[in-house]
Amino acid sequence: MSEKFILVGKSLKEIEEFMLNNEQSKFRAKQIYNWLYLKSVKDIDSITDLSLSTRELLKQKTELCSISIKEKQISKDGTMKFLFELKDGNFAEAVLMRFDNRANLTACISTQVGCPMGCSFCATAKLGFVRNLDTDEIIQQIFLIQADTGLKVTNIVYMGQGEPLLNFDNLINSIKIFREQFQVGARRITVSTCGIIPQINKLAELDFQSTLAISLHAPNQEKRAEIMPVAKKYKFDELISTLKKYTEKTGRRVTVEYVLMKDVNDSINDAKELALSILKLKSNVNLIVYNQNEKSPYKKPTKEAIQKFKYILEASGKKVTIRLERGADIDAACGQLSSKMKK
Ligand code: SAH
Repeated sequence: MSEKFILVGKSLKEIEEFMLNNEQSKFRAKQIYNWLYLKSVKDIDSITDLSLSTRELLKQKTELCSISIKEKQISKDGTMKFLFELKDGNFAEAVLMRFDNRANLTACISTQVGCPMGCSFCATAKLGFVRNLDTDEIIQQIFLIQADTGLKVTNIVYMGQGEPLLNFDNLINSIKIFREQFQVGARRITVSTCGIIPQINKLAELDFQSTLAISLHAPNQEKRAEIMPVAKKYKFDELISTLKKYTEKTGRRVTVEYVLMKDVNDSINDAKELALSILKLKSNVNLIVYNQNEKSPYKKPTKEAIQKFKYILEASGKKVTIRLERGADIDAACGQLSSKMKK
């Protein structure tokens, strides 16, 4: 199989090199670049300001994307779930959603096929780990969502399948491309991690300016280790102190994510202990109501438990938001991505 040059994900310089290597003028590269990143063109033939012969060459030697949309589902609340097929027959998922009435359009994207972290409550964990996505595959999720819907994604959250910090270089590369080529501001990008301490330190070194969200999900080491195997390696107290250093170095507040599960981590004592644990950590709290489906091992908390939990954290001085459940009817809700399609 002769490998075609994949366009989406490439920098202007790389496209220029490709054009020069194919006896084309370098100047055309900028046109292609703009069509790719600012206009999310659907196919080469739509790049109408290129000559026919250039378009022919591109059709022979290049492909827009290495991934393709295999399936798309639309929820009653407008949330869309995209299932992508990768070149090697694997699948990855992304979700597009709108929050409140602002003009924000948020895409939740994946960084790995499956996930190695094994959190007991998460659907993706059940798939096990297959492989990292490469930079192109991460970028193309946003490109294809924009090309398919004709809409511009304004916010990107790395909260789909996989652990972003275990695919560090592709994570950092893709953020750079989203910022520079897709014109998405650093502050509109959020990376969620289950807490890989050395990698958080690496982010601090880079003076990371996007938002770091930490999946804490428990008020102490013991409870966390019960539901998140990663806690056995990276201990709760060390994680909190790492995050404190991170906020000092970057000057950025972190988001503490906490999935509330009935009778697991949703009691008043849990809330009080959590409030104490993160009292001195510059952070906002995002409470996530557990999304359950037939196979879920846990139950969602009562409305009363959610409100009390929120109140206790607020009383300690934290800004707390409750993440609304989106796309539950199409299994697009947070933590339900599991790519039911198999090879
Ligand atoms: N590996 C990263 C990104 C994964 S995803 C991380 O751990 O942060 C997004 C968030 O969804 C994480 O906070 C994850 O713990 C949470 N999640 C997983 N399953 C869930 C479920 N069934 N209901 C609600 N949130 C869930």
